[in-house]
Amino acid sequence: MLSRYPFRAARPASRLFVAAAGTRAPASCIVSTRAARQRFLSTTHPCSKDVYDPRERLRNARPLVSHAAADRFSNAGRSRNSKRFAVACVAAAVIFYLCNSEVVPVSGRRRFNFFSDWYLQLYHRNEAKEIIHLVEAQGGRFLREGDPRVLLVKHVMKRLIPVSGVPDYDWEVFVIDDPRTANAFVIPGGKVFVHSGILNVCGNEHALAAVLGHEIAHNTALHAGERLSAAWVGNLMTGCVFLLAGGMPGVALFGLWTAVGGFFLRDLLFYLPMGRHQESEADYLGLMMMAEACYDPRYALTFWQRMEAVQRQGGVDVPEMLSTHPSNEQRIAQITQWMPRALEKRAESDCRGTTAFANQFRSAMRRGVLVTA
Ligand SMILES: [Zn+2]
Repeated sequence: MLSRYPFRAARPASRLFVAAAGTRAPASCIVSTRAARQRFLSTTHPCSKDVYDPRERLRNARPLVSHAAADRFSNAGRSRNSKRFAVACVAAAVIFYLCNSEVVPVSGRRRFNFFSDWYLQLYHRNEAKEIIHLVEAQGGRFLREGDPRVLLVKHVMKRLIPVSGVPDYDWEVFVIDDPRTANAFVIPGGKVFVHSGILNVCGNEHALAAVLGHEIAHNTALHAGERLSAAWVGNLMTGCVFLLAGGMPGVALFGLWTAVGGFFLRDLLFYLPMGRHQESEADYLGLMMMAEACYDPRYALTFWQRMEAVQRQGGVDVPEMLSTHPSNEQRIAQITQWMPRALEKRAESDCRGTTAFANQFRSAMRRGVLVTA
């Protein structure tokens, strides 16, 4: 085997040199002369197929990311073209925003919404199934069809649907057996979820009509589309900022944004103030709805007073109230202000929804005009 190593040397110093070079050559493959060492450094050693100089290997190493790709990544957003592109994106977003902003007929508030009712129903089509699965997975259960509480909710819904402005939804009622939670919500498309705890707070059919009227009104006013649109605007604007910052700074900014809870901040900035306006609009629409269905709108006040008392006492969870709703005092003050008009509505109503205010609201929303009850 020794005959394969023509540069065998006898001096220990040469052995050290071989070790420092980090070669994978066998220990017997030792370089002795200067010329041989030079050859050893610069070429493939004849006793092995490897390149022996680590600096040379480093210089010749293939990078994981090509230099061209790395340059493109580092300079992303810095070039004039990238900046023009980002500015064009921002300008397009502003134009898109202006084209899709509309006036909410009851409040005069201008809002951005580019999702139609049809798309919202499609977007939320599996949500009811997911909620049912989640409730059951957490050990909860739904009240059976013939339960008096389910029948009560269905009865109230039967009177509210004709005045809802969205009577053609595929309406379905689900009552969760959960006496400790006072909550109710309606998914776009007409799936109504009621926690049995809210029935105890309501105490009667009129107050339940106030709760369900409010929840239906969120659908009538397409509030879900507004929230979804706001989230898209947030994503687009954040993306533009990252792009304008350039490749690496943009990535760093994204990391910082994520680390400090940027998504939470975006929710706070976009949803919280708007959520309060939406709640107020749903209160107004819901109040008119219940009045037109010939329920006594004064029970809306009774309900919120009872809700305030229940919350003060504790013992019942009120999840929706804790999120973006206005305070009970604010709500009671507003409903008191609207009450004379609601009582008039009730007096004028034929109780069948033929002159439903919600229908006028939907029509006015399409035309972009204000409407008063
Ligand atoms: Zn609400």
